Amino acid sequence: MEAGPVDSGPTDGDWAAAEALLRGLSSDARVLLICHVNPDGDALGSMLGFGLGLRRLGVRRLQATFPGPPEVPEPFRGLPGLDLLVPAAEAYPAPDLVICFDAASESRLGDLVDRLERAGAALVLDHHASNTRFGGVNLVDPRAAATSVVAEQLLTRLGVPLDAGIAECLYVALTTDTGSFRFEATTPAVHEMAARLLATGIRPGDISRRVFDTRPFGAVRLFGEALGRARLEPAAAGGRGLVWTWAGLDDLARHGQRPYVLEALIDSVRCTAEADVSCVVKQTAPDEWAVSLRSKGAVDVSRVAVALGGGGHRFAAGFTGHGTVDEIVDRIRAHLDGAVIGSVTG
Ligand code: 5GP
Ligand code: MN
Repeated sequence: MEAGPVDSGPTDGDWAAAEALLRGLSSDARVLLICHVNPDGDALGSMLGFGLGLRRLGVRRLQATFPGPPEVPEPFRGLPGLDLLVPAAEAYPAPDLVICFDAASESRLGDLVDRLERAGAALVLDHHASNTRFGGVNLVDPRAAATSVVAEQLLTRLGVPLDAGIAECLYVALTTDTGSFRFEATTPAVHEMAARLLATGIRPGDISRRVFDTRPFGAVRLFGEALGRARLEPAAAGGRGLVWTWAGLDDLARHGQRPYVLEALIDSVRCTAEADVSCVVKQTAPDEWAVSLRSKGAVDVSRVAVALGGGGHRFAAGFTGHGTVDEIVDRIRAHLDGAVIGSVTG
């Protein structure tokens, strides 16, 4: 069963317990870092940035991994700390400590949940309100703009100074989850953290171009096709409007593209003025689709995602769907009215 939402951040006791876990590691302890399946900038950035920090602390037996194919999306192939990554199959079978990043529940760890079960201890770093607190120690702060905010706080408590490598990873994570400082989560504290990261000398122009503003020409054409078949449904979500599109494996194949290129498609769809809710349905296997949902503020899309077996944040959520695209969008429509903020759900 899922635990209820966690509204406030970690307690002093949680921070102290996390610090004790890390300070108490023996010199030959095996530490395994895991982030969620289909890792995004926050998942990889917070994990690798924290990993580089642990290395500075003297942790020698250290691996980082994520479930699924051991393929790092092109935009993240310049991240510092990639040498920490190992394929899931090669991750320590029974680590002394597992640390999870940006994963709201064990299901986001795929086959790697067995490492969690066999680990000596488990620490969870996350910022999803829906986090099920599946670690022995949980640093979950729903007010944090990114998991990297929690990671930086823990590194500070451990006395690890920021260097350019750590900072670049945490910066990629922070800019990913704040939409490059455009989303509501962009608080003064976010800009203060960005200032600390930039002070290490990292180059924000180069990083942003690499991570956000570069894609293969085939992906540009694929986006054109997917955007060309987008549908606008002004009456959906109690009249707030829904815009949606989809992309299949055959689209990817025709344009010679890898699935990760579709992660950015939602950003071109969600700008639709006439719809509060946007949706992209992306095929990941013959009968499996990764669904991205976004809201401009009138609808809590995490309610829809949770109802359909997924999770996320109020204004950015997702789930894994089965069946046809039309069946999946039907299911979404059916949950949208009840997810309008202020509406009563049953
Ligand atoms: P995205 O649309 O960028 O893949 O995901 C947006 C948010 O929804 C992420 O922060 C993630 O927390 C959540 N999310 C996406 N897909 C899933 C899923 O299949 N399961 C769960 N639990 N959360 C998801
Ligand atoms: Mn995140």
